Order: sequence, then C-alpha cells, then structure tokens
Amino acid sequence: MSLAQGAPLLSRLVSSSVAIASQAGHVIRDVMKKGDLGIVEKESVRDLQTEADRAAQRCIISSLNKCFPKITIIGEEGEDETKVASGSIFDPSTGLLVEVACPPQLSSIAEEEVVVWVDPLDGTAEYTQGLLDHVTVLIGIASGGKAIGGVIHQPYYNYQNPGSELGRTIWGIVGGEVGGMNILPPPEGKLIVTTTRSHSSSTVNDAISAVSPDEVLRVGGAGHKVMLLLEGKAHLYVFASPGCKKWDTCAPQAILEAAGGILTDIKGSAIPYHASAPHRNSTGVLASAAGQNHEVYVEKIPQHVKDNLKA
Ligand code: AMP
Ligand code: MG
Ligand code: MG
Repeated sequence: MSLAQGAPLLSRLVSSSVAIASQAGHVIRDVMKKGDLGIVEKESVRDLQTEADRAAQRCIISSLNKCFPKITIIGEEGEDETKVASGSIFDPSTGLLVEVACPPQLSSIAEEEVVVWVDPLDGTAEYTQGLLDHVTVLIGIASGGKAIGGVIHQPYYNYQNPGSELGRTIWGIVGGEVGGMNILPPPEGKLIVTTTRSHSSSTVNDAISAVSPDEVLRVGGAGHKVMLLLEGKAHLYVFASPGCKKWDTCAPQAILEAAGGILTDIKGSAIPYHASAPHRNSTGVLASAAGQNHEVYVEKIPQHVKDNLKA
C-alpha cells in the first residue's frame, strides 16, 4: 500500500513513523542478540545509554530527516546520534505503509510547524536487566506546543509467546483514531496505579498513597505505563518526580488522548511541546485512562508534593 503524496502531512508523518519505529525495533533486537550493549552512564547511574539507544536514534532521525527535511526533530540521545545511519534508513517508497486518517482541523499543518520528540528506546534500565516487554520506541509529533500524534512500538511484544508475531506498533492522532491495538477499559470497582520501578522517591510514593490504590504496578518506561492504561490493565499513571522528559510523554500523550484519556503534569496543567520547551517534565506526570475523572485525582495529590515540583 502506498500513501499518496497528496495525503495530509500528519497522515504521512504518522504512517512513516509506524514503519520507522518498527525498523528501530529491529535495530534494538539486533544489539541485544549480538550481546554487547555498550552501556554508558549519562547524568547518573540511574540514567543509562546503550548501543541500542544510539543506533535506534540514528535510524529514526536519519529516516525522518530524509522523508520530512523541514521538521524539527529532538532526540533523547542528542546531536551526536543524528548522523546518517548505515544500512537502516527507511525509504517510504519501498515500505508498506498503514493508512492513517487525519481529522480536518489538523489536515493543513506544514513541516515547518512540526516538532518531533524521539525516545529511541524508552525503558533502558529494564532493557539492560532483561525486562524486555517494558521497552518501547516513542515518536511523538507536536504542533503549536501540543502533542497531536504519536507512535509507540513494542519491539518485544509477544517475545514470551513463541510462534506469535514478535513486536507491534500502536499509533494515534488526537481527535482521530488509534490503530494497532484494541483499547480496553480498566476493571470497575478498584483502582490500579502504575508508576516507576527504577526512579522512585518519597514524593512519588506520597502521591501514590494519596490516591489510595488497590494495586500498584511498578514497571519501566513511560511508553509501557501508558500502554497499560490503553490495555485496561491500570487506571492511573502517577510520577511525582522531575526525571521524565518530553520525548517520554509526547507520543504516549497523543495516543492516550486519541483514546479518550488524559496526560498532564502532576498539578493537572498541560505539558508544553514547543521546540524551545525545557526537555525535562519538571512538574511530574499524571495520566488517566479513558473514563476516569482526571481532575479528582489531581485534587488528591498532596499540596507538599505539588509544591516540591517546581517548573
Ligand atoms: P520510569 O518510569 O522510571 O521507567 O521512567 C520513565 C522515563 O523517564 C524513562 O525514560 C526514564 O529514563 C526517565 N526518568 C525518570 N526518572 C528519571 C531520573 N531520575 N533520571 C533519569 N531519567 C529518568
Ligand atoms: Mg524514556
Ligand atoms: Mg530512552
């Protein structure tokens, strides 16, 4: 299937990003198969980078640049990892592209107005520890400071089910459709909260206690946690800490909102995605599945937790 050049930019961008994220998933699995992860510490021992993060970013940025030369791309692994990737650039004329419908209000956006936030491998700590189903590739599309479209690729989806197809890709456009999965509601009559497993703190735990959950799922990756909200496995994602970045939340937020959910900072304010926005989500993350009353949870977060997280 080829996507006509006449299709809206956002349709072509999401569709190409589906193929590019899947290609990055191959890169991530290849590095793990070869066994030499090339781990380096970035800002701290809790902030790692592997050869898979670097190679997947080169693949994604080279491919997006080739297809959409005028968009602004911000990748987690920085400028060094934007150079041309050898052998893994996606060519949209040779790939199979999904058809993505664009809602009319987003159909005339130009390349110059688009900022793409790329997390080539979300859940690096878990990747190095063999918790492979926590890993995602995130390509988030923003315009006018808002998350408007996104792709989440799970390179290890089904890896514990031999015989089933390995990996899957989910996409969404705000005000449009979600593709690649069935959205399910979380169970009624209980509250399941998902949060970090490797970046916990006292404010993270105070915020969780304040919403009185029946169950807490401590898992890796912002992408993986939002997937739990989309799959009906959790009601709420609580992260009252400054460590999460724009490339962690842009794609998950767009897909969650396309599915009827909400993602804000811990105070209930919108997260800005302009190219000049600070990379860090310094006021935390709060996300709720479709059908949840987001405002009620914002109210329950203790004031001292909110005061502790400054913009
Ligand atoms: P987590 O929920 O801990 O898996 O974190 C979600 C995303 O935010 C991942 O990309 C983490 O690398 C990032 N993150 C969260 N907290 C920190 C931190 N303290 N230092 C560095 N990265 C962090
Ligand atoms: Mg990340
Ligand atoms: Mg990452």
